[in-house]
Amino acid sequence: MRQAIEQVEQQIERACRQSGRERREVQLIAVSKTKPVALIQEAWENGLRTFGESRAQEFRDKVKQLPVEIEWHFIGHLQKNKIKYVAPHCTLLHSVDSLELGQALSEFAVKKQINVAVLMEVNTAREASKFGVEPDRAGDVYQQLCNLPGIEPKGLMTIGPYVQDEKHIRQAFAELRELREALRPFLPEDNLRELSMGMSQDYFWAILEGSTMVRVGTALFGAREVL
Ligand SMILES: *Cc1c(COP(=O)(O)O)cnc(C)c1O
Repeated sequence: MRQAIEQVEQQIERACRQSGRERREVQLIAVSKTKPVALIQEAWENGLRTFGESRAQEFRDKVKQLPVEIEWHFIGHLQKNKIKYVAPHCTLLHSVDSLELGQALSEFAVKKQINVAVLMEVNTAREASKFGVEPDRAGDVYQQLCNLPGIEPKGLMTIGPYVQDEKHIRQAFAELRELREALRPFLPEDNLRELSMGMSQDYFWAILEGSTMVRVGTALFGAREVL
């Protein structure tokens, strides 16, 4: 595992150098979904600090068993009835994929008197199989999310298209960055800080396109068994 972590770290540094960015501008989220608690513990001992999970019950069960210092991010589609498993324990929820989910989170947060930091997921790949707000509506929905009490939108998230071709993938990431730029006149900087984009196959390109958070699973922990 140590070697895999070093390799990913080197790639992140290389992408930062190539795009004239500082290493500290990009946060590595280690995606540990489906992986056992023992492996997360090992990764923690090897210096990884932030972990991403995508299933609500699995997330809730793992959080209880691991060091409280871990920073947990939730990156998967969240059903409204599972908000209670996730919102109180995560530092950042990357996957607000509809205004309705944002409203339900807001109600939960107000009731519990907590603040939930979130990103809005945008379906830049325009794939029917993907969650996320459609790009045409994204600016409007995001501004509405920014007006809800109890949630703190910090930026945008996307999953690149399932293709091999660099140009096509980078175009989706560039679109997310441009969407953020288009919102600058209307929103405070605090709502526009983060661009969560890039997974094992494409995080290098995502950093070149301005990603501030890469979500990397397979390249760190090996392939997942399909469940
Ligand atoms: C699983 C997952 C990842 C990590 O994917 P890898 O290809 O294993 O790096 C990143 N983001 C989301 C939303 C995921 O569901």
